[in-house]
Amino acid sequence: MANKIALVGIGKIALDQHVPTINASAEWDLAATCSREGTVEGVESYRDFSALLRERPDIEVVSLCLPPVPRFDFAAEALRAGRHVMLEKPPGATLSECRTLEAMARDAGVSIYATWHSREAAQVAAAKAWLSTRRLRSLTVTWKEDVRRWHPGQLWIWKAGGLGVFDPGINALSIVTEILPVPVHLSAAELFFPENCETPIAADLTFAHPDGAEVTAVFDFRQEGEQIWTISIETDDGCLVLADGGAKLAIDDIVQAEVHEEGNPLAGEYPRLYARMAELVRTGEIDMDLSPLMHVADAFLLGRRVTVEPFIE
Ligand code: NAP
Repeated sequence: MANKIALVGIGKIALDQHVPTINASAEWDLAATCSREGTVEGVESYRDFSALLRERPDIEVVSLCLPPVPRFDFAAEALRAGRHVMLEKPPGATLSECRTLEAMARDAGVSIYATWHSREAAQVAAAKAWLSTRRLRSLTVTWKEDVRRWHPGQLWIWKAGGLGVFDPGINALSIVTEILPVPVHLSAAELFFPENCETPIAADLTFAHPDGAEVTAVFDFRQEGEQIWTISIETDDGCLVLADGGAKLAIDDIVQAEVHEEGNPLAGEYPRLYARMAELVRTGEIDMDLSPLMHVADAFLLGRRVTVEPFIE
């Protein structure tokens, strides 16, 4: 039987990905939504989350698509009400609130899932397998996109806790932490803050690798023209390029596969996330890997701050 699920925060990602994915899946039944303004046609909608939890005890799973800062209170309330919780990325605004949620889920005996949609991109698993038998020499992340194109009007991104360019950058870090056989840690960072914003518009990161490989990342929200979401890797036995956010894989300049699944509600990043959530609910497990958020937190701890010209949308 399908799991009844409630979606909270009906905005861009809920409507672009979550709703079509849930509707196309036999494992899920979108039973209610909760949002101050947003609704989904034909689905019971609430503005008051406590009322939803009280009046719909049949809904066992809650998926939170809000921005990170308001998300904790909803997650904590859902867990206190004994519901399984699925979190959009990043799983929280701070590391400690994520740990608190994980502990609450364990105490309540329910599942919690910190999703990382970019890890589910089509070629990430193949890149991980290829890299697992090779010695890394360098890894370079280039994640450059036009914030005006992808996040129009999303003022929360520029407020403390909204992550700025780390909102997309954490997607790259979620892939890096998935495919690297050994962990790295941040050793230096420069963060570029527009003088009228609380979060950075660009960042340069350097990581220490246990074997001395060069690991760097460049994130930029000011990219016009070609949009770049690429990870380039050199090893002792060839070079790999993961492009288009993980959809395209080339080895030694020869494209191995290119699979664009956007808009297909049956295959792709979000269908795989919801299949995993169904599995976690079935098995009673928790999946709460915080390593991408740790690197972001480290960048805010260690990064040198540079003030740049104001950002005007
Ligand atoms: P969004 O459209 O700006 O926000 C989602 C919804 O959350 C809003 O429509 C709003 O609905 C509700 N909301 C916003 N601020 C709130 C607050 N302070 N309190 C309560 N509700 C609030 O953002 P989004 O692009 O969907 O992103 C949401 C999350 O998904 C982020 O963590 C983001 O990183 C992640 N994500 C986004 C994308 C993307 O392409 N946009 C892709 C993958 C993941 P109401 O006004 O109806 O309450």
